[in-house]
Amino acid sequence: MKRDYYEVLGIPKEAGADEMKKAYRKLAMELHPDRNPGNKAAEEKFKEAAEAYSVLSDPEKRKVYDQFGHAGLGGAGGGGQQFQFDPNQFADFEDILGSFFGGGMFGDLFGGGRRRANGEERGSDLQYNLKLSFHDAIFGKDAVELSIPRLEACDSCHGSGCEAGSRPETCPQCRGAGQVAVRQGFFQMLTPCPRCEGRGRVIPKPCRTCHGEGRIHRKSKVSFKVPAGVDRGTRLRLQGQGEAGRSGGRSGDLYVVFDVEPDLRYERDGSDLHRRLEINWPLLVVGGALEVETPYGTDKVKVAAGTPADHVVKLVNAGVPRLQGSGRGDLYLHLRVAVPKSLTAEQRQLVDQLRRSLDGDAAEGEEEGFLAKVFGSEKGGKKKRK
Ligand SMILES: [Zn+2]
Ligand SMILES: [Zn+2]
Repeated sequence: MKRDYYEVLGIPKEAGADEMKKAYRKLAMELHPDRNPGNKAAEEKFKEAAEAYSVLSDPEKRKVYDQFGHAGLGGAGGGGQQFQFDPNQFADFEDILGSFFGGGMFGDLFGGGRRRANGEERGSDLQYNLKLSFHDAIFGKDAVELSIPRLEACDSCHGSGCEAGSRPETCPQCRGAGQVAVRQGFFQMLTPCPRCEGRGRVIPKPCRTCHGEGRIHRKSKVSFKVPAGVDRGTRLRLQGQGEAGRSGGRSGDLYVVFDVEPDLRYERDGSDLHRRLEINWPLLVVGGALEVETPYGTDKVKVAAGTPADHVVKLVNAGVPRLQGSGRGDLYLHLRVAVPKSLTAEQRQLVDQLRRSLDGDAAEGEEEGFLAKVFGSEKGGKKKRK
């Protein structure tokens, strides 16, 4: 059972274009496959939202849907012919997501590229997930070579799919339109031509190497550079390195998506790094210097006398290089007090001595102030009298 489009987008029936766009944008960002790698349920929901938006954002289709529901669009119970959703058909789609995810990626997501009237078809985009070490993600990598299995233009026919000396012809069934009309109840619908699969052209004498496909499967080496500062989920677009187009169409792109192995010492937040650092409390009390390892070597950090136990030290420029813009993020050291589990007899004696000395101070001074705060000056005063 297909869900109601308004329900899918979470908007009321009378929602305006702006409200709808906002709701859709939010959903699309949340469910986008790039953010949910391998999550089939999210991908299905993403497509469901895209379909709902593609219908409701078109005033004509929305009118039909409001009146007849899914059945009006040739869906539920129509018997076979489903409403064909093609995100490439509406320009708004890439406008909405383009600024976030870069353009041109929807060919692959929704299967097949944009079709042109002359039968050319852009090749599919490909995606390769590349795992990097924490170090390589920060410093980048000069030369990475991948072996990518993909469809490439056939050498024998140079991608045309035609045997030497022959050429494609206009499809006799649709006369080149690529679509044919099909009647169904009250509705007349256009569907892709079954003879030419919507290309508008047929190949009378297919190339013997590629059987008219114009492309063959091959494994090819692709090399590129990993910029310094990539993070988990960063996509690198290698233009034209995807699959070859059909009938000599443009090649798709190859997207390299990075996954970064964690380093237990650091936690990364964009271009900033965070690190927890255990130090002995006497250093916080009397102050001193501390040698700290950073991704770039060792740094000397000054600790002032009387530093609080949960102090955070910021090492400027010791974070991750920024992909956009220049410079690096910062490294934050979150100080934690190390409490030793075992002490030598001498250490124990010293600490004990110190404890007794500090306890004595507290009984004289601080406790009175504390009680005064809690019980008011009267009771605090009582305590003092006692
Ligand atoms: Zn060929
Ligand atoms: Zn045709």
